[in-house]
Amino acid sequence: MTSLKKTDPETKSIIDSEIQRQSDVLQLIPSENYTSRAVLEALGSEFTNKYSEGYPKKRYYQGNKFVDDVEILAQVRAKKIFGVPHANVQPYSGSPANTAVYLALLEPLKNKIMGLSLAFGGHLTHGSPVSISGKYFKAVPYELGRDGKLDFNAIEKIAKRERPKIIVCGFTAYPRAFEFEKFGEIADSINAYLLADISHIAGLVATGAHESPVAYAHIVMTTTHKTLRGPRGAILMVTEKGFKKDPELAEKIDKAVFPGLQGGPHDNQTAAIAVALREAQGKPFKEYANQIVRNSKALASALIDFDFDLSGGGSDNHLILIDLQNLNLNGAPVAFALEVAGIVTNKNTVPFDPMPPFYPSGIRIGTPSVTTRGMKEAEMKKIAEWIKEVVDKIKDEKLPKKREDRAPFLKEFKAKYSKNKKLLAISKEVQQLTKQFPIP
Ligand SMILES: *Cc1c(COP(=O)(O)O)cnc(C)c1O
Repeated sequence: MTSLKKTDPETKSIIDSEIQRQSDVLQLIPSENYTSRAVLEALGSEFTNKYSEGYPKKRYYQGNKFVDDVEILAQVRAKKIFGVPHANVQPYSGSPANTAVYLALLEPLKNKIMGLSLAFGGHLTHGSPVSISGKYFKAVPYELGRDGKLDFNAIEKIAKRERPKIIVCGFTAYPRAFEFEKFGEIADSINAYLLADISHIAGLVATGAHESPVAYAHIVMTTTHKTLRGPRGAILMVTEKGFKKDPELAEKIDKAVFPGLQGGPHDNQTAAIAVALREAQGKPFKEYANQIVRNSKALASALIDFDFDLSGGGSDNHLILIDLQNLNLNGAPVAFALEVAGIVTNKNTVPFDPMPPFYPSGIRIGTPSVTTRGMKEAEMKKIAEWIKEVVDKIKDEKLPKKREDRAPFLKEFKAKYSKNKKLLAISKEVQQLTKQFPIP
């Protein structure tokens, strides 16, 4: 980055620090990943200079021959990988992509969206009251069963009672298999659209490491930057089933993305999506996706051996949700202590969490990033040991029951543990390991 160094050493230095951080830590946030250098090069390309409102061959600006080429390339690859007849690669990210689906199909304040409630692992854009999806449309959320798994009796009951126009099947903190077929049957029984939001598991779906929703859903949305390992972005796909239900579905969705919700597409992002999809077609990526799942299962089983309580009882995908209630610990201090030890996670609510989202009872972790670095089952065991050591170190730090005491407690906790010798010693061990597995 020689030009950047000359023009803006201040920003360059911050970027360098972030690269160092990403390299030093064990990155376990399941929605993150490390893209390839090839993806970064396309993302940093001159396509960022272009305006290309519209779609290939139907633009509002001149000079789009090569933008058309790259957008068509991305579309063709997406259609091939996921086995769908239509793909729109323009959504800026996952949230605008879901919003575009609602804009395409729902009447504001009238039609209903039925998604998993945020507190149980749905996404903000699945009808949460703080999101446009819950403010401009009627949300009729479903929850998980007491066992932390999808409860199809309950889901069917709500669907039959509320008759939502869209059912969303897709999650941010669900460690088990996404059962698309059952959602498809329920959606069909009330003539609803099924939107499969595979943002978290797209890389697994692309390679067969997780079942595909394409036979059961009408619309499939995925972000491109999680297990798919591309740039930030999203793809909206219409399936054969979707076309059968509504021959104009693709047209409605395209119109909702542009001009409904967005202006000019980010062509540099489109180019980088094309590259990521090229990478996802290869054998190494298939092996990568399978290893993500093997690593997640290995990490889950090692954690269970240390008596951690895992929501849903284990992991079928890339993700694990640790429920800390049996240890009488809270996600906020635990996530902080883990970061001091070089292990980056996020605090997360667990099903039926008695605590609010800022002080949730869980920790969410996942294996996509560490698997990109080449780590395998042996390293997962080591990671579980470190997590156990960190949690043991702070096992007496109970979050106060009284609401008003919590913020002061957390502040004091951070001051006390940010330079804790034991945690810093673990972070040194972590660095010994991460050094052996360089980031791309
Ligand atoms: C990440 C995610 C989104 C939103 O993606 P952004 O790119 O952050 O807007 C939507 N749905 C699910 C299930 C996700 O995991």
